[in-house]
Amino acid sequence: GNDAVRGKSFVIATDTTFAPFEFRDASGELTGIDMDLIREIAERQGFTVDIKALGFDAALQAVTSGQADGVIAGMSITDERKAVFDFSNPYFSSGVQMAVKADDDTIASYEDLRGKTVVAKTGSEGLRFAESIAEQHGFTVKALDKADTMYAEVTSGNAVAVFDDYPVLAYGIDQGNGLKVVTPKEQGSSYGFAVLKGNNPELLAAFNSGLAELKADGTYHDILVDYLGTNA
Ligand code: GLN
Repeated sequence: GNDAVRGKSFVIATDTTFAPFEFRDASGELTGIDMDLIREIAERQGFTVDIKALGFDAALQAVTSGQADGVIAGMSITDERKAVFDFSNPYFSSGVQMAVKADDDTIASYEDLRGKTVVAKTGSEGLRFAESIAEQHGFTVKALDKADTMYAEVTSGNAVAVFDDYPVLAYGIDQGNGLKVVTPKEQGSSYGFAVLKGNNPELLAAFNSGLAELKADGTYHDILVDYLGTNA
């Protein structure tokens, strides 16, 4: 346990759907790697969490506006975000990749996107990456708040590709979402738990202590295996 946080309750914001990091199971319960990590760390460090699944961009805004104490949402640790947030130690290494409809054989590279529309999540690294190459390759980027609407744009043919984090694409494809990846993954960042810069330092410290403990005793690995199986 940790005296600075013991008995305290913190509001933790997260994404609505970013499987396998956060999503609702068949009974509607919020589950996933991030949820298991924050709940287990809270229990061991002696604090409680009130988790609010707001959506990715909304979760970040909830922290910047003081409506939430922290965010865990598969959030990439980037230099730009470090101006606004303090991040925990990294807990998962990730990166952006492109996916297209499984039966689409017309898009095999970024060059094939010319004149087309792609989608990515509002406020995400995937969106940032797509925008960074959009002009060069002559395609349009549409930002959407939620994973389900974003993926539906591709399966319905309104967009030809989605840019998202590769573990999330891999998990969705494995679950039969009707997409496939055709390009290599881009160099990416790691995920971290975040608080508003200069705020809640005791919560951040407790997260780091808890994470170190979960890594040391194998719980962290068990959580990954629960969701990623042998890919963990
Ligand atoms: N890792 C990505 C980012 O931080 C996407 C996170 C998400 O969609 N929940 O921008």
